[in-house]
Amino acid sequence: MTQTLDAPPQGAARRAADWFAALEDAFRARDVERAAGLFASTSYWRDLVAFSWNITTVEHRAGVTDLLTATLDRTDPSGFAVSEEPEEADGVTTAWFTFQTAVGRGKGLVRLVEEDGQLRAWTFLTTLYELTGHEEPRGPGRPRGAEHGVDRQRLTWAERRAREEAELGRTTQPYVLVVGGGQGGVALGARLRQLGVPALVVDRHARPGDQWRSRYKSLCLHDPVWYDHLPYLPFPDNWPVFSPKDKIADWLESYVKVMEIPYWGSTEVRSAAYDEAAGEWTVELVRDGEELTLRPQQLVLATGMSGKPNVPVLPGQDVFRGEQHHSSAHPGPDAYAGKRVVVVGSNNSAFDICGALWEHGADVTMVQRSSTHIVRSSSLMEIGLGALYSEEAVAAGMTTEKADLVFASLPYRILHEFQIPAYEQMKERDADFYDRLEKAGFWLDWGDDGSGLFMKYLRRGSGYYIDVGAADLVANGDVHLVHGQVVRLTEDAVVLDDGTELPADLVVYATGYGSMNGWAADLISQEAADRVGKVWGLGSDTTKDPGPWEGEQRNMWKPTRQEGLWFHGGNLHQSRHYSLYLALQLTARHAGIPTPVHGLADVHHTR
Ligand SMILES: Cc1cc2nc3c(=O)[nH]c(=O)nc-3n(C[C@H](O)[C@H](O)[C@H](O)COP(=O)(O)OP(=O)(O)OC[C@H]3O[C@@H](n4cnc5c(N)ncnc54)[C@H](O)[C@@H]3O)c2cc1C
Repeated sequence: MTQTLDAPPQGAARRAADWFAALEDAFRARDVERAAGLFASTSYWRDLVAFSWNITTVEHRAGVTDLLTATLDRTDPSGFAVSEEPEEADGVTTAWFTFQTAVGRGKGLVRLVEEDGQLRAWTFLTTLYELTGHEEPRGPGRPRGAEHGVDRQRLTWAERRAREEAELGRTTQPYVLVVGGGQGGVALGARLRQLGVPALVVDRHARPGDQWRSRYKSLCLHDPVWYDHLPYLPFPDNWPVFSPKDKIADWLESYVKVMEIPYWGSTEVRSAAYDEAAGEWTVELVRDGEELTLRPQQLVLATGMSGKPNVPVLPGQDVFRGEQHHSSAHPGPDAYAGKRVVVVGSNNSAFDICGALWEHGADVTMVQRSSTHIVRSSSLMEIGLGALYSEEAVAAGMTTEKADLVFASLPYRILHEFQIPAYEQMKERDADFYDRLEKAGFWLDWGDDGSGLFMKYLRRGSGYYIDVGAADLVANGDVHLVHGQVVRLTEDAVVLDDGTELPADLVVYATGYGSMNGWAADLISQEAADRVGKVWGLGSDTTKDPGPWEGEQRNMWKPTRQEGLWFHGGNLHQSRHYSLYLALQLTARHAGIPTPVHGLADVHHTR
């Protein structure tokens, strides 16, 4: 065990150092039982790729034993070192650490508690951050750019880039094809580029950022800037707290250029089939109207969690004389001043669209079918995100990387326990606001167990509104509120299940988005989608019935039951953080490093 602190460690530092020394000793002796004994009887070890070649959480000593039995020998972990002064609070010692494995370098965060007079791990996060021999060319290892000296074959940077572009897909194949060039696809594209893995990002939109440009015009990000940085290139400190959608779109477009991401716009993937024997995909695409085939070995669907609109099919839609569209196709309010608009739905998009329509003088009715969780943006920023992602956190020395790791270190099994008090605080602070909404008849909820927004996002990816003002319009009746299920349309009205008729010139279906495994079914096959199981959400492994608790976001950023198929996406925070682990898994496969996956015994994943 190496101790990086200069003076002999005292107090918390001493205790953490002793715990790591004991852990390393047990690891060196390959004594799984002794190592598991260093964990508390209730404990959680979350591993991001370092030990498991998976994203996985194991629980309690039995889970630790299981993980170590399968992985200790081949991982050969060593060099555990506490990397900064541990903190002590409420009987928990929290320590950052670094370590090495047989193939790479890792970092992590442990929370130690006392149990039976012994210091034991309560939560333990291990993450791989680089592969030995495949370090990114950064800092002292950055490229030189100019090649001094003389060379008659010299090509400029622009010439090399042009040649690379001309060859890609013709004489060279990408090892990884990323379908979808939104924030998820480009974050991964940037990482793969840095790691030297031949990759190509394709998108059916013409320009990077069009995903955001094409959304309703009033949209600004709901998450604040500190939470939204992309890898390598944080937003400058004059960037607005909430990015307007066209500004973030331009940033994504610049990002693709600056990070030199191989990117084809106006390119649609039509189908993909995996050839087991050859270990590669046959992907049929149409680029600028021209059909072509690519043969990557790895296929990443970064096609968006909010990319497949759920549009209800209702009797009467064909006779309705007004306009109707899904929220994803809503152009904005300009054309609807003085018009009667029915917005079906009561989550984020519904509120944003209702607010903008009202501002433009439309007569707006919101149809609420089931309850919604609402949290005020200011309260969420202060109470929910402030400690990790805020100007104050930055001033206190919190980096984005550290914040992401702190967040990742809270196991999903108990994350709600950390969230509930925060949402109770918000409920109390904004009691008057909630009271007014309830008096207006709005159905509110706080998630299944009172754990609020983030858990709802992880579990379902929907069912909430981060209030930036439009909730008041519902509370004071400026936007009319009705409850029920839309059952049909007439020539000029929306009809609810209780018979209520809502006259309408425009109907907006703010009815959300379908799951990402729908994309796998569309592009590959239903059979492949079924084999993979649900994508997104926390809970049991849905390919088995009833499946064991997985403890992770299903199928995201990790090996799936379809060899060579991966899913990537989520909000900007997730795209940033988890793209690293996905990129490392792909890099290892490209480099031929063995990647035996723990927890997917029925999948060999040799490549
Ligand atoms: C109204 C709204 C507001 C949101 N606000 C926020 C926010 O404030 N903060 C936040 O972090 N997140 C927000 N999100 C959620 C999420 O971050 C965004 O949806 C984001 O765009 C997701 O990025 P992505 O890269 O995963 O997917 P997308 O941006 O949806 O990109 C997927 C891409 O895949 C392409 N594609 C799909 N199929 C194919 C195919 N067959 N061939 C080629 N290309 C294909 C699509 O053209 C699309 O460009 C919001 C979402 C919506 C709808």
